[in-house]
Amino acid sequence: MFGKILIANRGEIALRVQRACRELGIKTVVVHSEADREAKYVKLADESVCIGPASSALSYLNVPAIISAAEVTDAEAIHPGYGFLENADFAERVETSGFTFIGPKAQTIRLMGDKVSAKNAMKAAQVPCVPGSDGELPEDPKEIVKIARAVGYPVIIKAAGGGGGRGMRVVHTEAALINAVQMTRQEAGSFFGNPAVYMEKYLENPRHVEIQVLADQHGNAIYLGERDCSMQRRHQKVIEEAPAPHIPARLISRIGERCADACRKIGYRGAGTFEFLYENGEFYFIEMNTRVQVEHPVTEAITGVDIVQEQIRVAFGDKLRYRQKDISLRGHAIECRINAEDPFTFVPSPGKIGFYHPPGGPGIRFDSHIYQGYTVPPHYDSMVAKVIAYGDTREQAIRRMRIALSEMSIEGIKTNIPLHQELMHDARFIEGGTSIHYLEKKLAEKGEVKK
Ligand code: ADP
Repeated sequence: MFGKILIANRGEIALRVQRACRELGIKTVVVHSEADREAKYVKLADESVCIGPASSALSYLNVPAIISAAEVTDAEAIHPGYGFLENADFAERVETSGFTFIGPKAQTIRLMGDKVSAKNAMKAAQVPCVPGSDGELPEDPKEIVKIARAVGYPVIIKAAGGGGGRGMRVVHTEAALINAVQMTRQEAGSFFGNPAVYMEKYLENPRHVEIQVLADQHGNAIYLGERDCSMQRRHQKVIEEAPAPHIPARLISRIGERCADACRKIGYRGAGTFEFLYENGEFYFIEMNTRVQVEHPVTEAITGVDIVQEQIRVAFGDKLRYRQKDISLRGHAIECRINAEDPFTFVPSPGKIGFYHPPGGPGIRFDSHIYQGYTVPPHYDSMVAKVIAYGDTREQAIRRMRIALSEMSIEGIKTNIPLHQELMHDARFIEGGTSIHYLEKKLAEKGEVKK
């Protein structure tokens, strides 16, 4: 096994990876910005290296500084976490500098990182995709109009290099089409450095259901069931759960097998997620995430598999320790993402945490790097904690989540805990199976009532 791993990330995921390393007996190096110097998880690591000022462009995205940190500390491998450097160029740079990148090969990340080539690869592997343009949209407006007519309105224009819920535009009428394509192209060029866009049928009432996979370098691949991440605001997940309510197990195993098979076909290694929209009993692939995701703990809760440890093991070259028949799902798990933000306006609320009390008790997992006296810096993502509630049934998981949310206190900053409390009592959520538009609609209606 590796002797030492460098963690190129911050916050809860830096702590999560550290815990996995510690359990495997691996020493850890954490790189951090000046703003994160005092964080407890930085002090908990065996070694830490400051790689730049607060701005992530100069620190967490500063590739030469991260590679030098790995060199001076004699780390053997680099774990990217999520949200900063899980891209192909970084993976390549890590490997050419003589370290192991904990994730897929650069060429696989490149293939799946471009949504157009990802969809083509998935079609070839017989994974069902959202109907749409055959690859990137052409320049000629007449051709674009033709494609949209064939797909049928409404359509969604998406950036091939997009991510994080950005670079997408829904179009309801032909009159709005060309302008929307141009605007999305411009945005895509400036945000993602790639102006290519493609078109999909806009599904009006889908759920977001994703399949977690694990694969090794020896051609073995398995799926670890599904997650439902339909509770979203601005295409960003707010609550995730596993399994997805009311979807027949035979549909999940059929799509899961296809995903595992696709992994074998593209030579995938590590942990990954195939994201689908699910509507009227059909799955439609939208993209693959070639990294560990924020919501991985709900899958860990119902499978008993430590996804981060497996990621590290297969990066080292070990064979997967599980076969498909070893994976069985037990119980139900729900995760609430706790953000430092106003629960009604969603304006970020960084600052110093005063009184602090984390939740606990049966079935509760709390993944967070914060503590009393910790200052949430204004420079990064606003997520400060994840509460995961596990129960034998979905009802029990919801009851436990309500208790956990009512127990916890994070004073001094605003958080979205009140929103989660409300959702845990929401009749449609309790029923299960809401669409990706449910939360936005609910928030819009509430806003209108308030006005
Ligand atoms: P990102 O990489 O930015 O997360 P995705 O392709 O995963 O982008 O899409 C994010 C979200 O956007 C989905 O979860 C869904 O809510 C919405 N979305 C994407 N494609 C479609 C579509 N064809 N129809 C309806 N909604 C879509």
